[in-house]
Amino acid sequence: MNQTDLFDLPPAAPAPAERILNLRDLLNRYAHEYYVLDAPTVPDAEYDRLFKELQALEAAHPECLTPDSPTQRVIGTVLDGFIPVRHVIPMLSIRTETDTEATGAVAFDNRVRRELEISDLLTEVEYATELKFDGLAISLRYEAGVLVQAATRGDGETGENVTHNIRTIGQIPLRLLGDAPPVLEVRGEVYMRRDDFEALNERQRNLHEKTFVNPRNAAAGAVRQLDSRIAAQRPLSFFAYGMGDAEGWTIPDTHSGLLDALSAFGFPVCNHRDVVLGAQGLAAFHQKIGALRDQLPYDIDGVVYKVNSRQLQARLGFVSREPRWAVAHKYPAQEQMTTVLDIDVQVGRTGKLTPVAKLAPVFVGGVTVSNATLHNEEETQRKDVRVGDTVIVRRAGDVIPEVVSVVLEKRPQNTGPVFDLRKHLNNACPVCGSDIAREEGEVDWRCTGGLFCSAQRKQALLHFAQRRAMDIEGLGDKLVEQLVDEGIIRVLPDIYKLGILKLSALERMGEKSARNLVDAIEKSKHTTLPRFLFSLGIRHIGEATAKDLAKHFGNIDRLMDASEEELLQVNDVGPVVAQSIRTFFAQPHNREVVEQLRAAGVSWPESDGIDSDAPKPLAGMTLVLTGTLPTLGRDDAKALIEAAGGKVSGSVSKKTHYVVAGEAAGSKLDKANELGVTVLDEAGLLALLAQETD
Ligand code: NAD
Repeated sequence: MNQTDLFDLPPAAPAPAERILNLRDLLNRYAHEYYVLDAPTVPDAEYDRLFKELQALEAAHPECLTPDSPTQRVIGTVLDGFIPVRHVIPMLSIRTETDTEATGAVAFDNRVRRELEISDLLTEVEYATELKFDGLAISLRYEAGVLVQAATRGDGETGENVTHNIRTIGQIPLRLLGDAPPVLEVRGEVYMRRDDFEALNERQRNLHEKTFVNPRNAAAGAVRQLDSRIAAQRPLSFFAYGMGDAEGWTIPDTHSGLLDALSAFGFPVCNHRDVVLGAQGLAAFHQKIGALRDQLPYDIDGVVYKVNSRQLQARLGFVSREPRWAVAHKYPAQEQMTTVLDIDVQVGRTGKLTPVAKLAPVFVGGVTVSNATLHNEEETQRKDVRVGDTVIVRRAGDVIPEVVSVVLEKRPQNTGPVFDLRKHLNNACPVCGSDIAREEGEVDWRCTGGLFCSAQRKQALLHFAQRRAMDIEGLGDKLVEQLVDEGIIRVLPDIYKLGILKLSALERMGEKSARNLVDAIEKSKHTTLPRFLFSLGIRHIGEATAKDLAKHFGNIDRLMDASEEELLQVNDVGPVVAQSIRTFFAQPHNREVVEQLRAAGVSWPESDGIDSDAPKPLAGMTLVLTGTLPTLGRDDAKALIEAAGGKVSGSVSKKTHYVVAGEAAGSKLDKANELGVTVLDEAGLLALLAQETD
C-alpha cells in the first residue's frame, strides 16, 4: 500500500472499549460542568445522545461495565464551602425516555406490566402524571412542622446544605400548615420562571454583565451561592413533587394522594397533573402538555409518569440510579447545537440594529430554527460568536430563539474575526444605507435614517400622523400597515399624494372614510414649526425640545445647518440631543424629505412657529451688549433682540455672532476684536433688526 492509499482510508472507528472510555471521559467532564459548575458547555440533547450511546455500548459489552460509569450513578458533588448533608433516603435520578412520540409512553407501560407480571390486557396500570420541571432538585426537611434544612441532590447520597438560600424563596413554607408530623422531608424542584429569567438577563445586559445560559442554570447557580444575599436577588420559584424521610405520618397510598397532602401542607403543587390509565392515558397526557408547553410560564423538558400506587412502587423497586416505577418522557429539546453560517444585522422599528445569527437549520423547541438573536454587539463579543462556530441555540416558549453560547472546542481554525458591527456593516444601515451611530453608554447601535429607512417607516408614519405631531385623523395602525405593505407609501411625503381613489380601493376603507382621510391630510398641511420638527421623529426630540428649537432658530433651514455649538445654545439642548439633530440632518435623504414635504404644501408661519407671525431675523444668534448705546437703554435693546429671535449673552465667546458696542465699552469689546467677532453700533443693530427674513 502506498502513502496515498493510507490517506484515502476512512478513519477507523475506535474499538468499543476505547469509545466507552472516551465517552465516560466526555460525560464526566460535561456532568462536572453542569452539576458542579452550573455552566454547561454543550446542550442537554448532546449530553443525552452521548449518554445513550454509552448505555448501548455497555449493554453490548457487559465486560466493560464498571460501577463508576456515569450510567451507573447519580452524578454531582458537594461544592467547597458547603456543609454536606447525608440524605436518609437517597435522591435518585429518573430514567429518561427520549423517544418523544407516543411510543415512548407505550415502552414504559410495557416495562411496568412486564415487571408486575400483568398479562391480562384488560387490567390497566394507574399512573400519576406530572410535568418535568427544568430546575434543581431540593430536599426540604421539616421537624415539628418547621423548615430545619434544605439540601441539594449532590451525588444522590450526600448533598449540600443550602438552607440559607432556600429560606429566601417566598413560595417555600417555613412552617407547614395544619397537623404537621414530627418529621417530613419534601422533595421538589426550584426553578426560575421564563419571564423572571428574561428580566434577569436584560438586567445583566444593561449592567454589561454576563448573561445566564438558561433558567435552569440561573436557578441552580442561585441556590448554590454561599452568600444568600445573591440568592435573594434572583427570582426563584418552587414546585413540590415527592417526599423523602417521614416519621409519625401516615403516608397516602398513592402518589396523587401524596401531592394533595403536600398541597394541604402549604406547598405549591403544579395543577397540570392527572391520574390516568395505561399507555393511552400516558400518551394523551404527553400530547396535551406538549401542546401547552410553549404557553407555560416556565421551562419543562418533558412529563413524568409515576406508578400511582405506593404498594406497586415498592414491588417495582429500583435499578442502580433510578426507580423502576417512574420515567421522564421527553419533548424535543429547547437547546440544540448547530453552526453559524453568517451574521446578519436586522433593523428594528426604532432603528435599533440587532445582530442575528444565520444558522444551519436546526429543530429546537419544536420548530425548525434558522435565525437566532445575538441581542447586540457587546453580547456577541462577550459570547464571542463568530461565523463558522458551533453554537448552542435556545428556543423556549414564544421567546425569540437566541444563541446562548459557543461550543469552543468545536471552533474550526478558520473562523471569522471577532464580531465588529460597524465594520460588518461598513458603517451603513443594511436597509437604507444611512450612517449608523451608538450613543455613549448605550449598548445598541442604531440606523440614523429615521423616516427614510423602510424598516422604520411604519413607526415613523404613525409618529408623523399622531395628534401631537401633524394630527392626521384616521391614519392609524392598521391603515399604516396596509399602506406600507402594499408599497403605496414609501417615504413620508407620499402621504400627501394619497387620493380618494387609491384609498377607497383599500380593504376596509369606504369612500366616505377615504374622503375624510384626504380632508384630514389636507388640513394637516397647515401646521407649526414645532409640530413639524416633532413629527420628523428625530431621536430625542420630543415636543418640548421641538418648541425650544423652533423658538431659537425660528426657521428650519437655520436649524438644518446649525453647528453643534449653535445647537448647544438652545435651552435644554445637551450634547446628546445636539448630536442627534446633527446626525439627522447630515443625511441628505432626510433633508430631501423635508424639501418634499414643503413642496407638497406643508407650511407653517415663518417665525418661532408658536406665537407670532413677526419675522425673526436674529433667530439662532447670540449677541452681547457692551457700553452705553446712544438712544436705546440696555433693556430695550435686549427686548428688541429677543423679539427678533436672538439671545443676549453676558460674555463674548467664539459662539457670539455680534457684539453691540456703545460708549465706554470695556473688555468685551477687546475680546470681540481678539476673537474676530463682528462689532456693531446701535445703527448697525437696528439695520440688522430691520432685515427681511427669507
Ligand atoms: P433528570 O434531571 O433528567 O431527572 C431527575 C430530576 O428530575 C430530579 O432530580 C428532579 O430534579 C427532576 N424533576 C423535575 N420534575 C420532576 C417530577 N415531577 N418528579 C420527579 N422529578 C422531577 O436526571 P439527572 O440524571 O439529574 O440529569 C440528567 C439531565 O441532566 C439530562 O437531561 C441531561 O441532559 C442533563 N445534563 C446535561 C449536561 C450538559 O452538559 N448539558 C450534563 C449532565 C446532565
